[in-house]
Amino acid sequence: MKDILAHRTTKIDSSGIRKVFALAATLKDPINFSIGQPDFDVPEPLKQQAISAITAGSNKYSQTQGDELLRAKITERVKQEFGWPQPTTIVTSGVSGALLLAFMALINPADELIIPDPYFVMYKHLINMLGGKCVFVDSYPDFELPVEKIAAAVTDKTKMIIVNSPCNPTGAVYSQERLKTLARIAAEKDILVMTDEIYERFCYDAACASIAKYYEKTLLLRGFSKSYGMPGWRLAYAAAGEPLRELIEQMTKIQQYTFVCAPTPFQKAAIAALDYDVTDLVAAYRRKRDLIYEGLKDKFELVKPAGAFYAFVKAPAGASATEFVEKAIARGVLIIPGSVFSEKDTHFRISYTTSDERIQQGVEILRQLA
Ligand code: PMP
Repeated sequence: MKDILAHRTTKIDSSGIRKVFALAATLKDPINFSIGQPDFDVPEPLKQQAISAITAGSNKYSQTQGDELLRAKITERVKQEFGWPQPTTIVTSGVSGALLLAFMALINPADELIIPDPYFVMYKHLINMLGGKCVFVDSYPDFELPVEKIAAAVTDKTKMIIVNSPCNPTGAVYSQERLKTLARIAAEKDILVMTDEIYERFCYDAACASIAKYYEKTLLLRGFSKSYGMPGWRLAYAAAGEPLRELIEQMTKIQQYTFVCAPTPFQKAAIAALDYDVTDLVAAYRRKRDLIYEGLKDKFELVKPAGAFYAFVKAPAGASATEFVEKAIARGVLIIPGSVFSEKDTHFRISYTTSDERIQQGVEILRQLA
């Protein structure tokens, strides 16, 4: 096959995750700590909204930028939250869709993008595929936003700084102080910031801060997948203030020739989702976070995750994380080696989106392996 494929296919490597799935396929009833999606289903009233939208005929293309009512509501929200006088928005097919549009609109070959490591794996592969250069900045061992290292990594070629808080895979939530410092660094050098806030609702100890409040050249990405248990609905949005209006316009142009629009009936349901109270769903995940943290903290090195639904745990000394993950999978616990999300292979990711009972069983097995 090699000869017929575009060179860019060689820039993507999915071997790390594939290995876990291959091993998992051999197991009967594994404890699945590997999946990055909620275990709750779409709340019933939101399902009804989608069903009604389909029945009422909202099945055609929407505007490329998204359903007008939905966009109006998103615009109002970001206006209030960030004080942007005239935000521009686009509804996308997931944050994944927004990432592709943004990167396609921004990256020229050899442009540098600064990314705290560990990172959400899609950034690396999309950037590589588009010929950009990832500049990883180590955030071990506490996974706080490494502002000084970011400042030191800026060069003439820096196109953008990417922040993801709450963070996949570490569960870190960046403090307001550090985000303000980053805003100052970015403003001094006039660099764009992209903030991926798909886990914004999953903040367990305090409200999540957003750099969008402190820096006007911020591209904000937020999604519906995680907050409402609808990753298969493919819905998210990108928003920016006046200084990045043209970026959103160019993303819209690219959407016109790629995704065309986000799924129309689900956009209708998303209008109601924006008003849906997820406090109880989040409280359940806070409890799961506590089960994982309390269950592992005396046997493993781990920072208490403050958000998202992941814990990023150091593998015991004497083995690489990949070797430890293989041992855990052999015992029926599916976890992902940190090397999938990092240039290091020292940690593993637990996604605790499963029942409390399964969490307790998984914790017990991991403790035995420590
Ligand atoms: N960003 C982060 C940090 C994620 O973890 C994910 C999903 N795993 C996405 C973006 C993409 O989510 P979606 O395309 O479902 O909106």
